[in-house]
Amino acid sequence: MFVVFASSCSQKMESTSFTAMNTYMTVKSYGKKAAAANALVQQEVERLEEILSTTIEGSDVYRINNSNNSDDEFTEIPVRTETAFLIKRGAEFYQMTSGAFNPALYPVIREWGFTTGEYKVPEAGRIQELLKFTDFSKIEISGSSEISRPAGLQLDFGAIGKGYAGDRAVEILRSAGVTSALLDFGGNIQVLGAKPDGSDWTVGVKNPWGEEPVAAVKLRDACMITSGGYERFFTGQDGKKYIHIFDSKTGRPVENDLESVTIICREGIYGDALSTALFVMGLDKAIEFWQQSACDFDFIILTKDKGIVYTAPMEKSISLLFDFDSVRLVE
Ligand code: ADP
Ligand code: MG
Repeated sequence: MFVVFASSCSQKMESTSFTAMNTYMTVKSYGKKAAAANALVQQEVERLEEILSTTIEGSDVYRINNSNNSDDEFTEIPVRTETAFLIKRGAEFYQMTSGAFNPALYPVIREWGFTTGEYKVPEAGRIQELLKFTDFSKIEISGSSEISRPAGLQLDFGAIGKGYAGDRAVEILRSAGVTSALLDFGGNIQVLGAKPDGSDWTVGVKNPWGEEPVAAVKLRDACMITSGGYERFFTGQDGKKYIHIFDSKTGRPVENDLESVTIICREGIYGDALSTALFVMGLDKAIEFWQQSACDFDFIILTKDKGIVYTAPMEKSISLLFDFDSVRLVE
């Protein structure tokens, strides 16, 4: 859980917490409209979960993943606009990250037991077999309400669902007249506006090695989203740690020298996709990706050897709170 340093202020704060999308979510909004707006946010997140869950029967994703089709044909499936939107954005992120972000890894992730908790290390041949079904570029969208997918292709929006829900939540709060709010959707932080007193929000970067945050970051109308290997993993019979973020090239959990990747940007879905993708890429490729991008995001990467690497524009908004063994700025 991220630590948020909130200061006292005159506007009344309304805090609403609930469990959705397999995680704990909190919305803190300020002002007279806050309570009603928070209730709308909870409703919307629950609605999105009904559409995007891999396990709720009748959700769009469930129907996509479980519709019958013959082995060699595309199956056409009607979907809601939200699902079509996520597939469109997913395709954009898939291409942009050269497949590091891939919402079609579901058959592989399930084989490793991450969907059921019955973890196992599958045989190499089985992984290769399942990788054939993970080419996300093969999914097609017609209009905003119908998709077609090749046999065997199955989706999982676990890496962008919460970020997307955060974006929807911010929109709802804004249209309900809230000008100052902070969301914590299972560690995904998104803030609307500034704090009620006009100053920036200050949000902590989670410590993989201890309790206290390792850094504090100032935010305003932004999100800060982290992917890490230290929260969801299992230890195999070989004693190795297998995490829940997968490399689409190998069909295996990522093994690299990173502890976590935090993305700071405007849009939740983008930050959520990139935090997962840059984690998959590893340090060197993540740096290269940022340098070649439009620089419409920043990152903070924590490495297993107790190092921190962050993009130079972060310098004005980050304060380090941990005795790192190395600190590196990327230009
Ligand atoms: P968290 O959900 O813990 O905040 P992420 O945003 O990184 O972490 O999402 C991880 C989830 O996304 C996994 O649980 C899995 O469902 C899915 N996933 C795993 N690897 C990938 C990948 N390379 N691309 C897209 N989704 C992935
Ligand atoms: Mg993510």
